[in-house]
Amino acid sequence: MSTATLTIDLTAITENWSALDQLTECETAAVIKADAYGLGVAKVGPALARAGARLFFVAMAEEGVALRRALGPGPAIFVFAGHMPGDADMIRSADLTPMINSVDQLLTHVESLPGRPFGVQLDTGMNRLGMEPAEWSAVRDIAVAQKPELIISHLACADEPDHLMNRLQLENFKDMTEGLDIPRSLAATGGILLGPEYHFDLTRPGVGLYGGLPFVDATPVISLDVPVIQVRDVAPGESVGYANAFVAHRPTRVATIAAGYADGLIRSMGANATLTHQGRKLPVIGRVSMDLITVDVSALAEVPEHLQLIGQHQSVDTVAGFAGTIGYEILTSLGARYDRVYLT
Ligand SMILES: *Cc1c(COP(=O)(O)O)cnc(C)c1O
Repeated sequence: MSTATLTIDLTAITENWSALDQLTECETAAVIKADAYGLGVAKVGPALARAGARLFFVAMAEEGVALRRALGPGPAIFVFAGHMPGDADMIRSADLTPMINSVDQLLTHVESLPGRPFGVQLDTGMNRLGMEPAEWSAVRDIAVAQKPELIISHLACADEPDHLMNRLQLENFKDMTEGLDIPRSLAATGGILLGPEYHFDLTRPGVGLYGGLPFVDATPVISLDVPVIQVRDVAPGESVGYANAFVAHRPTRVATIAAGYADGLIRSMGANATLTHQGRKLPVIGRVSMDLITVDVSALAEVPEHLQLIGQHQSVDTVAGFAGTIGYEILTSLGARYDRVYLT
């Protein structure tokens, strides 16, 4: 078998959820949009529910339907995209709670599903989703009369604790929600770490559950072990891979491993990346191909059956750093070809 093994530790995910929960006095939801950040909503959702999570967030209604199928009735499922045209049947049949982002969505919702639960998303400065202050003032009384379940907003700079934007958004959020008897939520993973002022009634961690920054104390969740298909010795002057991108200057032992950019190991990580074997770092050489990567294993006395890209010795964020991106993108790019093994 030449497929790489992606090991996903569900216990680590639930431990991270509990650890984030213990940082606050309020309730803790779980954000499991984008197929639980690429790790599989059908496994991650029920594991979190068994650990005590009762509130979940997804990005779009279709994801909510898949999550409801995995969870069964009971837990609340909120949808960040709100109520889009064509969503009414899914919202009703999967018992979803759309986070209403605009007056248009509010009208769509109360007209198509009168009396059905909804939440409200406010824009406190990020200018991405949610009602702006003027729009909110205009419909606030009408919306509040329909008793929203929850009011949320999202922080643009929560991973930079000293950024002035955090306090500015906090003040805007307080101004826009003052005096309403409706549960409020502002903090995702980064917001939880900003401290109690940002916690309100409910937090919404995503990436921290999956072991990613900015939750530095997270338990690692995934490891990725890639089979070695072939090993060869390359003489000085010979080149390796597309465009002859690597040229050997000394005798070099090259292992070709069975994963590439089609598996989410994005091509731009090539020049800086390492794999590991028992903690020893082994540089990627040449270009990352669609299904293959070449690695300098000259430092090893014996070449093992697998080399590790992500795990104990290199985190998701380390690998993200190779490619100049963030852990979120590495997680959500993890490919469909991996043999996924879930640890419980
Ligand atoms: C993705 C998202 C979250 C979770 O953010 P993390 O940084 O992954 O914890 C929370 N709220 C909203 C609105 C989001 O889009």
